[in-house]
Amino acid sequence: MIDDAIRVLAGDCTVITDGTDREEYRGRVTTIVKPDNTVLVHDIDGYQPVAWLTRADTLSSDQADGFTLVATKGTQTLRIAAHDQDGFAHYPGSAAGQPVGTCPDCDGALVRSSGVHCVGCGERYGVPTDATVRNGSCNCECGLPKMRVERGLAFTVCLDRDCESLDDAVQEAFDREWDCPESDCDGDLRILRRGGLLAGCEHYPDCDTGFALPAGVVDGECGCGLPTFETPHGHRCLDATCEQVLDEPIEVAGDD
Ligand SMILES: [Zn+2]
Ligand SMILES: [Zn+2]
Ligand SMILES: [Zn+2]
Ligand SMILES: [Zn+2]
Repeated sequence: MIDDAIRVLAGDCTVITDGTDREEYRGRVTTIVKPDNTVLVHDIDGYQPVAWLTRADTLSSDQADGFTLVATKGTQTLRIAAHDQDGFAHYPGSAAGQPVGTCPDCDGALVRSSGVHCVGCGERYGVPTDATVRNGSCNCECGLPKMRVERGLAFTVCLDRDCESLDDAVQEAFDREWDCPESDCDGDLRILRRGGLLAGCEHYPDCDTGFALPAGVVDGECGCGLPTFETPHGHRCLDATCEQVLDEPIEVAGDD
């Protein structure tokens, strides 16, 4: 499942960088090539590579006449030629992230990077960037950790959308809950997904009113009639461009 490999070449090498300046080095160094074509040449000293190219445009290697590796990016070139090779290997690699649980399929570690992935089997789960996933606090019946996401309310759902759907939970809570704010429209706002979750008028395309659901919880009602949200970036109207929103939430009568 893990197809991203980190390549390592160790040995007595000549390293030539070309671009704005030409530099030549020779030493017994270790070169690391990442799956995104970042090339790092390390000698024995310090954390900084002797030479590097971040996310090279092109990368070619040739083992015919000793090992050579050529990476280019724009006008820059990094050339590595091994005179005496101590080792060359591919190692499976993954993104590193905070551990958030154990994979129910393979017992590997689940870690949070951009999404959540298993270090063991490579299984991936898409997670909204604002979601929190905590280690061991709350597991689904399927064995996966749950994520907590604020979309009007705080929802706690399985990492696996096929097991427990955030969209279904948000729809159940807020579908047709708010009226379209257009004065000549009597539509309800439906909860739908267009990339992110939206509250959009049911009369689309006749009415194209729609708002991305903010990452936060509903804390009252705006002067315009739409709900207001408490978000990490402050108090706001569902309509991000609304000017009727007050600094403090208005309590809605009968709301609990
Ligand atoms: Zn796994
Ligand atoms: Zn589940
Ligand atoms: Zn409408
Ligand atoms: Zn408003």
